[in-house]
Amino acid sequence: MNDINYDPVILTKLLIKCPSITPKDMGALNIVQKHLEYIDFNCFNLNFSEAGTDDVKNLFASIGKSNGKHLAFAGHTDVVPIGDINSWKFHPFEGVVSNGKLYGRGSEDMKGGIACFISATKKFLDKHKKNFNGKISFIITGDEEKEAINGTIKILKWLKEKKIKIDHCIVGEPTSNKIIGDKLKIGRRGSINFYLKAKGVQGHTANSNRAENPVHLLIKFLNTIISEPLDNGNEFFLPSSIQIPTFNVNNTAANVIPEVATATINIRYNNKHNAESLQEWLQKHIDNYFSLTDKASCSFTIDKTGKSFLTKPGFLSKLVSECCREINGLNSNPELATDGGTSDARFIKDYCEVVELGLINKTLHQVNENVKTKDLEQLTNIYLKVLEKYFGLN
Ligand SMILES: [Zn+2]
Repeated sequence: MNDINYDPVILTKLLIKCPSITPKDMGALNIVQKHLEYIDFNCFNLNFSEAGTDDVKNLFASIGKSNGKHLAFAGHTDVVPIGDINSWKFHPFEGVVSNGKLYGRGSEDMKGGIACFISATKKFLDKHKKNFNGKISFIITGDEEKEAINGTIKILKWLKEKKIKIDHCIVGEPTSNKIIGDKLKIGRRGSINFYLKAKGVQGHTANSNRAENPVHLLIKFLNTIISEPLDNGNEFFLPSSIQIPTFNVNNTAANVIPEVATATINIRYNNKHNAESLQEWLQKHIDNYFSLTDKASCSFTIDKTGKSFLTKPGFLSKLVSECCREINGLNSNPELATDGGTSDARFIKDYCEVVELGLINKTLHQVNENVKTKDLEQLTNIYLKVLEKYFGLN
């Protein structure tokens, strides 16, 4: 019983003590499993592998009846590397509490969130026993911070094969801004890179009539690209943003017109676009611009790093917003945002309505990652409220 504790601060600390840098687990999932089995959850260890990737441990756990609503909580127990250990005030895998803050890698992203949901579930079951009309489950992966190939995406496939249907899902990534529950996420922007290569005709700068300078062409071309906004954004998304992060010529001679110039275009795009539509958009601009000369051409390669998605505000975001307001006493609804990096919600949204709600997004991936202990209590209270409202027991 010593290693079973449902206090969210102590449970977060137990999880921090497992140095579970992706793809290593180091006992983290076992701690989650033991805490859930102790309150009668049915647990499945799902270990996935794929050629060329690391094997990963995952966990699916559930409790309740199949003939009611099914609410899942999703999260990851893996963490990012610690960086320089000498820069940490306290050992990153000790879980030291100092001045009301719990320090450690994963405290914010997102062992704290997992501990809060387990703690809330324990309180919910203590109070209502198993007399709730539906099912609560946990989708916990050890593969979020790296490739995310042997994690959530495969657990969801497994659930589909087993005909286990989830109605709604809360992802416990840190989303809050200043106080717990003031910001939820209902989608994310996408990201894509285009690597451009403009080819002209090399020559002497004194004989420019016999050459075609690709630098001039690429500068002017990129100028047209950044002069017109892709869109103006919409109710849920900021305008898409085009950035030119690199421009290279690699020519050292001042009297030579180079043959090649290259550049990168990075686009953070909203739900008005996808990789294919942006590729067409770029190709059209290239065709228009480079058709002006038959001495030069421009080609590009693509690197897609993440799709944009939106879960339209609905039942779940409304319910979670109400719970946040009730617990934190705010007189306005939480912001429904789509900013920041990517998360496993991008896979879950294909299965059910998903909302992200978690701790304050502030120190994740940094040295001295930490979370206020009172925030862990607050998030636990909000999660408990969500469970009660969801199952009509408030
Ligand atoms: Zn995370």
